[in-house]
Amino acid sequence: MAIKRLLIANRGEIALRIHRAAREMGIETVAVHSTADADAMHVRLADHAVCIGPASAANSYLNVAAIISAAEITHADAIHPGYGFLSENARFAEIVEAHDIAWVGPKPEHIRTMGDKVEAKRTAGALGLPLVPGSDGAIEDFGEARALAEKIGYPVIIKAASGGGGRGMKVVNSAEELESQMGQARSEAKAAFGDATVYMEKYLGNPRHIEFQVFGDGNGKAVHLGERDCSLQRRHQKVLEEAPSPVITPEERERMGGIVAKAMADMGYRGAGTIEFLWEKGEFYFIEMNTRLQVEHPVTEAITGVDLVREQIRIAAGKPLSFTQDELEFKGHAIECRINAEDPWTFTPSPGLVDSYHAAGGMNVRVDSGLYAGYRIPPYYDSMIGKLIVSGRTRKGAIMRLKRALEEMVIGGVKTSIPLHQALLEDPEFNSGDYTIKWLEEWLAKRAG
Ligand code: ADP
Repeated sequence: MAIKRLLIANRGEIALRIHRAAREMGIETVAVHSTADADAMHVRLADHAVCIGPASAANSYLNVAAIISAAEITHADAIHPGYGFLSENARFAEIVEAHDIAWVGPKPEHIRTMGDKVEAKRTAGALGLPLVPGSDGAIEDFGEARALAEKIGYPVIIKAASGGGGRGMKVVNSAEELESQMGQARSEAKAAFGDATVYMEKYLGNPRHIEFQVFGDGNGKAVHLGERDCSLQRRHQKVLEEAPSPVITPEERERMGGIVAKAMADMGYRGAGTIEFLWEKGEFYFIEMNTRLQVEHPVTEAITGVDLVREQIRIAAGKPLSFTQDELEFKGHAIECRINAEDPWTFTPSPGLVDSYHAAGGMNVRVDSGLYAGYRIPPYYDSMIGKLIVSGRTRKGAIMRLKRALEEMVIGGVKTSIPLHQALLEDPEFNSGDYTIKWLEEWLAKRAG
C-alpha cells in the first residue's frame, strides 16, 4: 500500500523530524496540535493542520478520538506517533489499524508485550538475550522477595512492571530495608501507573547504559544498526548520547548485534526498536525494549547513513528493508546534546519567548529543533527544545566539532542547557570516555560543592 498522506501525532522537534522525512518521500503531512502549539514550526510547514484540543496533553496529544477524527477528515492514510505520548500505546495502534490507517510502528501485540516489563523480560530471556539476575516474573509476597534477595545478594532493585521514565524503582541495600522499600515501590507504582505489580533485579553497582537500534520487516527479517551509549544521565534521564560506545569493540558489536537482530527476526518484529542493556565488566544485561523511535536516533543515522524515519515509513507501507546487514557500515563517531529550556545548573524549566535564534552549521553538524526567533516556548510540555548532533572521524574530532557548534548556537531570551554541555565537554573524564550512569550526578554534586 502506498502512503500518500501522513498524520504526525506528536509535537516539537520530532514532529518536524517526521515531516522532513515524509516530504523527502513525496508524502503530504498532516500536523495535529493543541491550541498552545498553533504557531509551532511543524504546524507551519505541514501541508494540513488540525487543532485537536487545549494545551493539556491529556486532552490533545493523548486524545485518541480527536486524533482519529483528524485523520479521517484529512484523509490521512498513515499515522506516525513519534516518541512519548501515544507511541507505545498498543490500544491506540489497534484503533489506528482498525480504521484502515497504516500504523508507523510495531505490531500492537509486540508493543503490549514489551510495555509490560515483566513480560518483556520473560520474552527477552526466551529469545536468548542476557538478563539481569532477578525474579522470574512478578514477586507477589514478602517472604518470596526475601528468599530471592538472599539468593542474588544485596543490593537489589524493586521495579514497577508498568514503570517508565525512571519512575517506580527502589534500591534495597539490606534485608532490614526490604519490607518498607517493597511496600513503597508497590504504592508508588499503583499511584503512578495504576498497577502495583513489581519485580526484583540485582542492582548493578556501576554500569553503563548501552542500547542497540534494531529494525524488522515484520516477516522474519531483522537487522541491527549498532549501539548507542547513553550513560550520561541525570535522574535516569539521558542528557548526551554517543555512537559508537567508547567501550565496545567492533567484534563485540557484531556479536551482540547479531544476538539482538536474531531475537527480532525470531519474534517477527516490525519497524524500529531499541533494546536497552546495562553493561558492566564486559557483560550485557537486558533491561527493557522501546518499541518506537528514540530521541537519540540521529547518532545512529550519523554513523550509518540510514534515515530511520524513512525506513519506518517504508516498512509501514509494506516495503522490505532498504538494506541488508552486510551493506551496513559504521563510520566515524557521533554525539548528540539534548538542549532543554531550563536553568543549566538547577534544572528549573525556563519556558517563554525566544527573542533571538541562530542554529549552528557547517560540516557534519545537524540541528533538530522547531525553534525560531519570536517563538514562545509553551510551559505545558517537556523542556527539550532541540538537539544538536555532530559527527567526526574520531570521538576526539566529534568532541572538538561539538564544542565549536555549541559556541555558534544562539538561543536568546530563555535559559538553556548549553552551558552544562560546554562544561561537560571540558571534563577530562568525559573526554577519556570512562564514565558510567552514576558519573554525571556525581560530577554535578561535586560542582555544586
Ligand atoms: P524506565 O523504563 O523507567 O526508564 P529502566 O528499566 O529502563 O526504567 O531503567 C532506567 C535506568 O535505571 C537505567 O538506565 C539505569 O540507570 C537504572 N537501572 C535500572 N535497572 C537497574 C539495575 N538492575 N541496576 C542498576 N541500575 C538500574
